[in-house]
Amino acid sequence: MRPLRVLVTRRWPEAVECALGERWDIVVNRDDTPMTQVGLAKAMEEFDVLAPTVSDRINEEVIAGGDRVKLIANYGVGFDHIDLDAAKAKGIAVTNTPGVLTDATADLALTLILMAARRAGEGERELRAGNWSGWRPTHLVGSALKGKVLGVVGFGRIGQATAERAHRGFGMTIAYFAREPKPEAEALNAEYCSDLQDLLAKSDFVSLHVPGGDDTANLIDARALTAMKQGSYLINTARGGVVDHDALAEALRSGHLAGAGLDVYPREPQVPEALLGLENVVLLPHLGSANAETREAMGMRALANIEAFAKGEDLPDRVA
Ligand code: NAP
Repeated sequence: MRPLRVLVTRRWPEAVECALGERWDIVVNRDDTPMTQVGLAKAMEEFDVLAPTVSDRINEEVIAGGDRVKLIANYGVGFDHIDLDAAKAKGIAVTNTPGVLTDATADLALTLILMAARRAGEGERELRAGNWSGWRPTHLVGSALKGKVLGVVGFGRIGQATAERAHRGFGMTIAYFAREPKPEAEALNAEYCSDLQDLLAKSDFVSLHVPGGDDTANLIDARALTAMKQGSYLINTARGGVVDHDALAEALRSGHLAGAGLDVYPREPQVPEALLGLENVVLLPHLGSANAETREAMGMRALANIEAFAKGEDLPDRVA
């Protein structure tokens, strides 16, 4: 039997590339720049498995590019960049890498909460620009976390891990919005809000943890931002499309929001122009899962899915 041909669209951690190469005929996009839509479409005819990342747009046109790929093994938990319906229609299975990046992403949500609350970005920029004039009681005064309400939007793996850190580590009170109450909330004494506007109105910090895609597009729009408390903070480690960034920029400019912390944007690597000039927003370049242990675990999880596919077994992390 010919070995499985696997296309890895970006560089993966070395240990994972080696493990893949020991098993199958792999081609890695060693340039590590995003592949073109034409290149991805062509790959559908040349490979058995496509192993993309969030930076690849696997849309209907790409999927229509050929009949050979039978598995799309995504490196990452979010899969809103893949057209699942088009994949299903062609009998292509899709897998992701859930769980292994939960802690890393929750850590980054807390990083953003702390950076926004304590004005860490502003302080660093001031110091590096040579503008720091020394300690004074009124300098870059931010907000405490203890006793403040963290509103978690989407109470899945990362939402819960973020809530746990905020509650146990920083003494925050947790409220959450989900489609149904979650039993895990009890251990954190977390209050369920069935209505998003209610959650927004009572939260000092709002952290987003829903998947991207059509269902959650612009969930945090101008109306939602208006519903947020005066002087509150918005944190987004979910997907850029969940937030209307023009409306967010206006809420930050007017002072209705005290600050925001963002890791994700609608058209990465572009960052909405309106945000770049604002001091009260922390902007990170999609670092949620970026620690060495997690990036390797993500690759090994994708490998486990390819292995199951190669053996004709049930796929551990099938999403379509
Ligand atoms: P998860 O466990 O599936 O959690 C997502 C939660 O969102 C689920 O509990 C789901 O509810 C809920 N949800 C879905 N649609 C909703 C809606 N319309 N309204 C309210 N709640 C809704 O996923 P996860 O592992 O926590 O990951 C969450 C997302 O984080 C990923 O999809 C990805 O986009 C993002 N992410 C970003 C980074 C980064 O680098 N910044 C890293 C990892 C993940 P049910 O339980 O009812 O289904």
